[in-house]
Amino acid sequence: MMDVITGAFGGLKTAAELTQGLLALKTDAAVSAKVIELNGVISGVQQQLFTAQADYSTLASRIRELEAEVANFKNWEEEKQRYQLHQLAPGTLVYRVKPTMKGSEPDHDLCPNCYEQGVKAILQYSGYEKGHKSFSCSRCKAVFLGEMPPSESFVELTSTPWEFDRGY
Ligand SMILES: [Zn+2]
Repeated sequence: MMDVITGAFGGLKTAAELTQGLLALKTDAAVSAKVIELNGVISGVQQQLFTAQADYSTLASRIRELEAEVANFKNWEEEKQRYQLHQLAPGTLVYRVKPTMKGSEPDHDLCPNCYEQGVKAILQYSGYEKGHKSFSCSRCKAVFLGEMPPSESFVELTSTPWEFDRGY
């Protein structure tokens, strides 16, 4: 963009010199030729300014995007402090809201994959899988298995034994 602006200034300098030169000319034909040359220089300057304006708009919108990204990043840096690693079941870690930080919100867990990517994605209960309660992330589709509840799995297995045969 600086090249364009430098070019525009150069064009204006040439136009000023041409205007000065007009005063010294003696014939109408010579004046006409200089006016045509002057018009050419002016339209060149206009073109360069249009280009500079378009470049400026592009840069300004990019700056707004980056400012929004920085703001999101700062918000997340604050928000992530509300959560800590929690073992949902042996070998299954999620981020759970700290009891002291949850305020009026219910207990909830965040997807650890999305957490590492700077995105808050709340895990939702998604039924039973292999006898475990499962929780899934709607964003990255990861599924996390909770502990098998002893009483509930007992009821399930005794009431529907055919499920057990099928590996449930
Ligand atoms: Zn996720």
